[in-house]
Amino acid sequence: MEAPVKNTELIDTAKLREEFPILRQKLNGKPLVYFDNAATSQKPLSVINAVTEYYETINSNVHRGIHTLSEKATEAYENSREKARSFVNAESTNEIVFVKGTTDGINLIASSFGNMTVGEGDEVIISEMEHHSNMVPWQNLCRQKNAELKYIPVNDDGELMMDEFRSMINEKTKLISVVYISNTLGTVNPVKEIIEIAHSHNIPVVIDAAQAAPHLKLDVKDLDCDFMAFSGHKMYGPTGIGILYGKEKHLEAMPPYQFGGEMIKSVSFDKTEFNILPYKFEAGTPNISGAIVQGAAVDFIEKLGHENIHNSEMKLLEHANNLFEEIGGIRIIGTAKNKTSVISFIVEGVHPYDTGSILDNLGIAVRTGFHCTQPLIEQRYKLPGTVRASFAVYNTTGEIDLLADGLKKIKKMFL
Ligand code: PLP
Repeated sequence: MEAPVKNTELIDTAKLREEFPILRQKLNGKPLVYFDNAATSQKPLSVINAVTEYYETINSNVHRGIHTLSEKATEAYENSREKARSFVNAESTNEIVFVKGTTDGINLIASSFGNMTVGEGDEVIISEMEHHSNMVPWQNLCRQKNAELKYIPVNDDGELMMDEFRSMINEKTKLISVVYISNTLGTVNPVKEIIEIAHSHNIPVVIDAAQAAPHLKLDVKDLDCDFMAFSGHKMYGPTGIGILYGKEKHLEAMPPYQFGGEMIKSVSFDKTEFNILPYKFEAGTPNISGAIVQGAAVDFIEKLGHENIHNSEMKLLEHANNLFEEIGGIRIIGTAKNKTSVISFIVEGVHPYDTGSILDNLGIAVRTGFHCTQPLIEQRYKLPGTVRASFAVYNTTGEIDLLADGLKKIKKMFL
């Protein structure tokens, strides 16, 4: 038996769930309730079938052969790049690089652009709420360059302290990299304002859009960000593929990140001429099926519509907030005014790992621990971890009722 479904009205959730076979199963004898969407989302049939279709019909290497299959694979690969361009509203497909995911995209920027932009004594600004993927590459760059990494502080509600941010900028600041939506707090950061402030000082800005891609309409032109990275697997697409957007002028000026086949125009024993954009950054045989199937994930989101997705997820968040308040004794970490459908919490007096494993026994998959934001949880909030429920468009208020029942049981057991 499946978890009870109540439609969100905006999207026919019952019908939508039929497209997600994994949600039909039972875990520990209970209907699966999947609330670990911020870690990775489940995949609709259109995405699952696109993998099989690729391997059954056009599997071939891209940009290499003049044979028909290779041409078909190349066409599908480049079509998907065009879908990604349109998805983020970039000017040109030259600005869209296929990478492994957000982590890979940020490492590319840090290694190439960061390396040429940041020097000894310079400063890079990130925030206290960054995922390790948008922290460790900058720590590494700053250590190598003898530069300083500064952190925009986060207030008790989980919002960036913008006055402090303004006062951190000086002539030594060479780069700013911030998360659009926090995977731990759910905060939607004022990235447009951050970019405006940064650009008034001629400082380029990188946006980590890993959590924004499944929830918000991305618009690199409107934001005017210099770089943006996100992962396919968090937006109903496959693992091992992600998109890096970079302004053409930056990508042109940047040295390649990796070297080998595909990224070259010509090679002699003496020297190599690099390929044009975006291939200069796609060394080796790429994740062809991943890139093509990522196009199916973009189609899935666009068919539902960003606004419908957002509205239906906000209803889920509201429902969870109301139930948590009713139950009492639950501390929510991350109460920003502008939030998305991520709710990090602690049942007062119960270790997050205990809460997580009891919920798992009830068939409810939540994430527990630091959520790859250890400094935020441990140093900023002085917590041993949190429990995180993150909702996707196929989740239902009925499932949130099951979570609330589980939390009531946990309270009875422990308190
Ligand atoms: N940034 C944020 C905000 C994330 O939530 C994640 C993944 O959880 C990442 C970066 C890293 O993404 P990936 O592991 O797909 O590279």
